Amino acid sequence: MVSSYFRNLLLKLGLPEERLEVLEGKGALAEDEFEGIRYVRFRDSARNFRRGTVVFETGEAVLGFPHIKRVVQLENGIRRVFKNKPFYVEEKVDGYNVRVVKVKDKILAITRGGFVCPFTTERIEDFVNFDFFKDYPNLVLVGEMAGPESPYLVEGPPYVKEDIEFFLFDIQEKGTGRSLPAEERYRLAEEYGIPQVERFGLYDSSKVGELKELIEWLSEEKREGIVMKSPDMRRIAKYVTPYANINDIKIGSHIFFDLPHGYFMGRIKRLAFYLAENHVRGEEFENYAKALGTALLRPFVESIHEVANGGEVDETFTVRVKNITTAHKMVTHFERLGVKIHIEDIEDLGNGYWRITFKRVYPDATREIRELWNGLAF
Ligand code: ATP
Repeated sequence: MVSSYFRNLLLKLGLPEERLEVLEGKGALAEDEFEGIRYVRFRDSARNFRRGTVVFETGEAVLGFPHIKRVVQLENGIRRVFKNKPFYVEEKVDGYNVRVVKVKDKILAITRGGFVCPFTTERIEDFVNFDFFKDYPNLVLVGEMAGPESPYLVEGPPYVKEDIEFFLFDIQEKGTGRSLPAEERYRLAEEYGIPQVERFGLYDSSKVGELKELIEWLSEEKREGIVMKSPDMRRIAKYVTPYANINDIKIGSHIFFDLPHGYFMGRIKRLAFYLAENHVRGEEFENYAKALGTALLRPFVESIHEVANGGEVDETFTVRVKNITTAHKMVTHFERLGVKIHIEDIEDLGNGYWRITFKRVYPDATREIRELWNGLAF
């Protein structure tokens, strides 16, 4: 249930009363608070309030980041999405999505699901020039946080060697969620020195050969893929490298039972389309087949051994924080996400940062493997 204060606010922002009631009925509105700033989070879409939308007590709304269409057959996909019109190509950076916004006198970092993330909010000043918000308080910086020391992902892109970094890929208006045209974003990012995703320039459907070479190169470099955007940001599509499809399977198979089957099927499907579209044959085909099989099986079998020997399926990750309280706030934050983590180690790096090691245990995956290993028949 949301308080009457937020009910009135949402009605004033144009959410019809019936919709509000339906949302409340299915528990899709959650009221939350971060350092004295109250907000409502949308766990479902309603009208123009996309899933992940956050409405602050000030009445400011930060819309949820929209779904990006995926292209699986590159050549036909770009023709269908962009016709013969040009589009910008940017790197798809492998990290987690954050929307950075100024509310009252604070700069907050919001996750895709609409939570203010204590870790990202504390660290964002290391990457983003806050002068931007003095000049543009009505804009939201959207970017990917990526690196080996991330609270949400076990790996980052190869060029972030330590810690974590921010890469801008969108600037949106508060309230409407409308994106600035790509060129305007590029210009603002340069003007304020905000780090952005790598840009590969303008392409169109006649340059599919070059685009395929780019994909091949990114895949060799162990990078995730590309996002293609019309200059006005109205048409957007993503394409992921074969490397990323196989690597995601490798990461996922460690916690096989904790992921929906669709996680694996989707990636196998995309890889198959890549192999077919590019007529991959012979030794190269065999290499992909072997890599896929190994990715799917090795971490899974290792997890079974771990549990069979009395252990658990778990993941360890580290992050750097400025205050140890931020680490404790992350534990509480994960609890709200239904995830159990605990702090394993705290190390003073001596430069104003602490390195925190967390351990996340996967109780469901552990139980399932244990029961099967112990002979459960069905
Ligand atoms: P969906 O878009 O379907 O909700 P998802 O959450 O599984 O999918 P991905 O398939 O990983 O996300 O792809 C979309 C995400 O890619 C975006 O939400 C964004 O966080 C990330 N991303 C990384 N680089 C870029 C970029 N250059 N432009 C847009 N998004 C990017």
